Amino acid sequence: MSIERTVDFIIVGQGLAGSVLAIELLNRDKNVLVYDLPDKNNSSTVAAGLFNPITGRIMTKTWKADLLFPFLIDFYSQAEKKLNSHFFHPMPIYRPFISIQEQNEWMGKSGEARIQPYIKQIISKTQFGDHVHDDFGGLLLSRCGYLDTNLFIDTVRKSLITRDSFRQEYFNENELVIDQDSVSYGNVEAEKIIYCNGNEGLKSRVFGSLPFKPLKGETIHVKIDQELERIYNRGVYIVPSGKAGQYKVGATYNPRDLSESITELGRNELSYKLRELIKLPFEITNQNWGMRPSTFDRRPFLGCHPLEEKVVIFNGLGTKGVSLAPYFANQLADWLLGHGEIDREVDIKRFKLGK
Ligand SMILES: Cc1cc2nc3c(=O)[nH]c(=O)nc-3n(C[C@H](O)[C@H](O)[C@H](O)COP(=O)(O)OP(=O)(O)OC[C@H]3O[C@@H](n4cnc5c(N)ncnc54)[C@H](O)[C@@H]3O)c2cc1C
Repeated sequence: MSIERTVDFIIVGQGLAGSVLAIELLNRDKNVLVYDLPDKNNSSTVAAGLFNPITGRIMTKTWKADLLFPFLIDFYSQAEKKLNSHFFHPMPIYRPFISIQEQNEWMGKSGEARIQPYIKQIISKTQFGDHVHDDFGGLLLSRCGYLDTNLFIDTVRKSLITRDSFRQEYFNENELVIDQDSVSYGNVEAEKIIYCNGNEGLKSRVFGSLPFKPLKGETIHVKIDQELERIYNRGVYIVPSGKAGQYKVGATYNPRDLSESITELGRNELSYKLRELIKLPFEITNQNWGMRPSTFDRRPFLGCHPLEEKVVIFNGLGTKGVSLAPYFANQLADWLLGHGEIDREVDIKRFKLGK
C-alpha cells in the first residue's frame, strides 16, 4: 500500500499510558497517530483513579513517591489548563485507626522526615464520626486525591481528534511492517511505534513474552445522600465518581480469577468492607471489573525491543497507573527524542526477549 501520511510516532492504545504519552510527545512538537478501540472494561476506564503516597496493609510510602507525586500533580494540573477541562481532584484521604496502639504508632511515625510531607494531620479522637467508624481518630493524608480517568481520557481523545491524530479502530499487529529506518501500517509511516496496549500486550508477537501478570479487580458504584469532601480508605476506598452523590468503591485484588465478568463474591466483599468503614446508608447502583496490566516484578515496562529498535513499549503500570504514567511517560518521551536514559528498574532490557 502506498504511504499517504507520515508521523513521528504511532501509539497503540489510549488508556492512561497512551493518553499521557501522547500529551508528552505533543508537548515536544511531535506528530502522533493513536489507534484505540475503547472498551468499558479497560483498566483505565474501570479505575477509581486514586493517587495515594502511603499504601498497603502496613501503610508504607510507595515506590519513588518523592519523585512521582510532585511530578503527577504538576502534569495533571498543566493538562487541565491546556485541555480546558477539570479531571484532576486533589483531596485528602482519611484512614480511620482501629486501635489506640495504631494511633500511637502513627504519632511516632509522623515525625519521620520521609513520611512527614504526606501527612496532613494525625487525629486522636473521632472527627468524621457522622460518616465513618473512627472511634480512635485516624490518619489524614495529603498530596493525594483522584483523577477522573474517564473524563481525562475522553478529553485527550477529543483533542487528538481535532488534530486528526486519532483512529478509533483495532490495530492489527499482523499488518505492521518493520523496516530498518521506519515502521508502516496501512498507508501510514512512522519513525517508531509505541505499544501502550495494556493487557493486550500479552497477545503481541513482539512483547507477548514479557512477564505480564494480569490482576483482576472489581469495583461497585454506590449512591449516598451526602457529598463527601474527603476520600475514606480502610479495607476499601470510597471515591467520587464524577457524578453528584455517586461513588466508586474498590477494589478487589484477585490474581487467580481471570474470568471476564463481575462476580457475586466481589460484590459481597466490597459491600461488606464498605459497611465496616462507613456508617452512611448506601445503594449499589453498578458493578464493574477490569484487568490491571501488572507485571511479575511490579515494575513498568519501558524501552525498545532488543531486536527491533523501532518498536517501543510503555506498559505494566499495574495498580498505580495514575501516579506512574506522568513521570515515566516524560522519561520515555525524552529518551525517544535522544535525551536521557530509561531507569534500569523499568527498562525491558532487564529481561531476555526473543524475536
Ligand atoms: C478495578 C481497578 C481499579 C483501579 N484503581 C486504580 C486507582 O485507583 N489508581 C490507579 O492509579 N490505578 C488504578 N487501577 C490501575 C489502572 O487502571 C492501570 O494502571 C492503568 O489504567 C493502565 O493503563 P494502560 O493505558 O496501560 O492500560 P489500559 O487501560 O488497558 O489501556 C489500553 C488501551 O489499549 C487499547 N488497545 C489494546 N490493544 C489494542 C489494539 N490492538 N487496537 C486498538 N486499541 C487497543 C485498549 O482498548 C485500551 O483502551 C485500577 C485498575 C482496576 C482494574
